[in-house]
Amino acid sequence: MPGDSVFSRIEPRLTSVSKPIQYVGGELNSTVKEWGADAETVRWALMYPDAYEVGLPNQGVAILYEVLNEREWIVAERTYAVWADMEQVMRTGDELGPIPQFTVDAHRPVGDFDLFGLSFSTELGYTNMLNALDLAGIPMHAADRGIEDPIVLAGGHAAFNPEPIADFIDAAVLGDGEEVVLAISEVVREWKREGRPGGREEVLRRLAVSGGVYVPRFYDVAYAADGAIEAVVPNRPGVPWRVRKHTLMDLDAWPYPAKPLVPLAETVHERFSVEIFRGCTRGCRFCQAGMITRPVRERSINTIGEMVENGIRKSGFEEVGLLSLSSADHTEIGDIATGLADRYEGQNVSLSLPSTRVDAFNITLANEFSRNGRRSGLTFAPEGGSERMRAVINKMVTEEDLIRTVATAYSHGWRQVKLYFMCGLPTETDEDVLAIADLAKKVIAKGREVSGRNDIRCTVSIGGFVPKPHTPFQWAAQLDHETTDERLRKLREVVRTDKRFGRAIGFRYHDGKPGTVEGLLSRGDRRVGKVIEAVWRDGGRFDGWSEHFSYDRWMTSAAAALEGTGVDVDWYTTREREYDEILPWDHLDSGLDKDWLWADWEDALAAARGEDIEVEDCRWTPCYDCGVCPEMNTEIQIGPTGQKLLPLAVV
Ligand code: SF4
Repeated sequence: MPGDSVFSRIEPRLTSVSKPIQYVGGELNSTVKEWGADAETVRWALMYPDAYEVGLPNQGVAILYEVLNEREWIVAERTYAVWADMEQVMRTGDELGPIPQFTVDAHRPVGDFDLFGLSFSTELGYTNMLNALDLAGIPMHAADRGIEDPIVLAGGHAAFNPEPIADFIDAAVLGDGEEVVLAISEVVREWKREGRPGGREEVLRRLAVSGGVYVPRFYDVAYAADGAIEAVVPNRPGVPWRVRKHTLMDLDAWPYPAKPLVPLAETVHERFSVEIFRGCTRGCRFCQAGMITRPVRERSINTIGEMVENGIRKSGFEEVGLLSLSSADHTEIGDIATGLADRYEGQNVSLSLPSTRVDAFNITLANEFSRNGRRSGLTFAPEGGSERMRAVINKMVTEEDLIRTVATAYSHGWRQVKLYFMCGLPTETDEDVLAIADLAKKVIAKGREVSGRNDIRCTVSIGGFVPKPHTPFQWAAQLDHETTDERLRKLREVVRTDKRFGRAIGFRYHDGKPGTVEGLLSRGDRRVGKVIEAVWRDGGRFDGWSEHFSYDRWMTSAAAALEGTGVDVDWYTTREREYDEILPWDHLDSGLDKDWLWADWEDALAAARGEDIEVEDCRWTPCYDCGVCPEMNTEIQIGPTGQKLLPLAVV
């Protein structure tokens, strides 16, 4: 029967696979519901397309899982990517045949659900989606699916350009998911109640005409002789030319997760996270997350306090992370830090801020946060090594700011700070990257001076820059991985050969090849779907894991799959785009005005030539017309509220 558990088929095999606990479910605060009457129940299988240890802590999935399950007529369960040994077991199967992709909650086959929703925070999860579809027995291509197959729906940041996976998904949703998953559920319930009129096509049409769900099959894409897109045109009446993102406007009304999932197996984060605000308007030009989540919407200090208390009580976690794109920017972060530290004085509850900007205020915060628990590491992200580079990316951190901040850290007892940079930014030269070494040396010298000690350390961590859709750098050429690697080899050499500092500076960098693939998938169009499928057919899985990622497999597959199209990997990655080129995601509306993005790109190039152009944060300066608020009918929501966190009655 649909919805029946397959656990009895999995259980005898669990002793033969690694970390079997990840397939068992039953975590504290997880939910198992009755399958329900078909016409009255809407069932979602939710997937974070990576292993359990990465997927379980994902906030997006956890929030939607709760929001959906709170409705008595909705069933939502979770599924994760299975490791190769489990895949083998499932494909071999038993006397009933192969064991299908199953949910960890009630071990139901994913193919039995009405909707299969996947959250992509990175494009490197695409092959895991194909593997899950195949294991689930769901036809891989959306065009081949029938009325009984789930609607395959993509969300998350990567869904702002879902074109490379357009052949495999039925729909995509841009932006905040809380409200739209309920709206989608209503449409599906209505359609099922009516006896599924018009089949799959009709339910997708109903979703598409709502204006907030993108259904790729309802858009035709034509290509010009030079390989660029000529036009993207809706092919059904009533389907909008542009599909809009969703913006949740009252975070206090949606205090999720309220029942944090407590993992059974080890996961990448073991803490309870509260999102203290959404959006960022600092205007860093490389940052897709900041651009696509505008405007800033803060959660109030009191709701944050309630969520922290409730989450700790319900989960038993001892660490609380205050999440956002730049947590120290919350207008009441000082009061939040002190209020929470006071509340949990003498208890083993530590608080952490995962991302902080470079200023001395963060040391005070870090001190407050470590008052009741262990001291967390300090990471700052100047992103660019030279002042010129930081002007290009609009990350206006001066060397003076950085040195002053680390001096405060070292003089307050920290022995180690981490600095995060990117390599391959537009207009970057060797000198810009070598400036990272100078900065790190100055940091160490200052640390030794203020602390009077010699065991000061600084870890320089470097990531390769990948231009992303809906950012001012969406037109930029990506640096090829050979040049990136060569630049970083020079940097490492400069650091290592200086005997005074070499041992005090740690260096973290892998290689630039995954960045090239990420670049292909980020700015790709529908033709890239064939590449993804070829990689999966050749065994590609878990591309976000260096031990599973194969650059050669991607390049060989791309060469074969793109043959005859006139375009290749370089065309998608290292080529700079012109203003009038139709970009694959132009029909997907993040709210950002394309002309504003272009002007900001030109400002970046002007900054590279030494012009003094800075885009300030619109939270504190007048609106600079990025377009989001009028387009999406939203506005910035920030404090201060002037409220204080009161001590809890019972501690
Ligand atoms: S429209 Fe104006 S206020 Fe709104 S996010 Fe853009 S710059 Fe800021």
